[in-house]
This record gives sequence, structure tokens and C-alpha cells, in this order.
Amino acid sequence: MEKTALFPGSFDPFTIGHESIVKRALPLFDKIIIAIGYNSEKKEGYFSLEKRMNWIKKIFANEPRISVEKYEELTVDFCKKMGAKYILRGLRTSADFEYERAIAQTNHYLATEIDTVFFLTAPELTPINSTLVREVIRHGGNASIFVPKEVDLKED
Ligand code: ADP
Repeated sequence: MEKTALFPGSFDPFTIGHESIVKRALPLFDKIIIAIGYNSEKKEGYFSLEKRMNWIKKIFANEPRISVEKYEELTVDFCKKMGAKYILRGLRTSADFEYERAIAQTNHYLATEIDTVFFLTAPELTPINSTLVREVIRHGGNASIFVPKEVDLKED
């Protein structure tokens, strides 16, 4: 059976930290689905859902085992729909660990057949997160060093 992992997040925007997690996890799985969670009742993110999806498609255009989807339901329900038995997450700090622990354990209660696999961030990528990237952009700074080259933060 194909081993599929789902990497859920908001990816607003997708950073070199996210890219590193996907690349490191790829040897473990047959397929990785990068899944952008959204809520149709709320305002979109800082970047539109479409833009975020297109960036990710472009980044992994040469890797047929990686795809991108959007979803609105519970993460474990979307995993079942996509046939993913594993959820992929990254850990930067102990604060991440506490937050991620609660989510992973709750997900495991909801669907015992689904497990979360964690990757520790590469040390040099620890400070990178989407919130700070958005702050840099808002204040006119150059955030391109924090995102893969395919992510054109200036495009309309
Ligand atoms: P969320 O909206 O759920 O926080 P994010 O898009 O911010 O989603 O992050 C998705 C996943 O990527 C999370 O598991 C997060 O810990 C991980 N992640 C974010 N930035 C990095 C980074 N610099 N290095 C490793 N993992 C990261």
C-alpha cells in the first residue's frame, strides 16, 4: 500500500522552513500532500489561497510525489479522504512541542489509525516562521531570503 503523509498548515506564505521539512520527509513516504487549511467563513490569509497553492505547485513542479490541496474539514477527516495515514509537522522550539503535542494527541483520539510524524527543524531555520515573514513584508523589508525562489512576494 502507498504510504501517504499529509502536511497541514496555513503556509501564509510557504517558507524555506516548510520546504526543508517536506524535502527531508520525502524519502520516508511515497506521497506527500501539502494541505492548506482554510475557513470559508473567515477572511482569507495575508496571501490568497490561490496564490499560496500556486507557489507550492511551482516549488515542487518537478516532484510528482508532492501535491498541494486545500481543505476545510477536520485534518483527520481530510487525511481519511486522501488516504493519508501520517500527518507531518515540524518542531522548532519547546513551545512548538507543547502546541503540537496537544494537536497530535487529539488527532490520535479522533482517528487512532493516523499518526503524526515530527521533524526537528534544521538549526539555521529555527527562527523562520510565516508570521515574521509577513511582519517583514508589512514594514517594507526584504523577505525573499526566507522563502523559496519560486515564491514571488511582490507579484500581484
Ligand atoms: P500553522 O498555521 O498550523 O501554524 P504553518 O504553516 O505555520 O501552520 O506551519 C506548518 C508546519 O510547519 C508546522 O508544523 C510548523 O511547526 C512547521 N514549520 C513552520 N516553520 C518551520 C521552520 N522554520 N522549520 C521547521 N518547521 C516549520
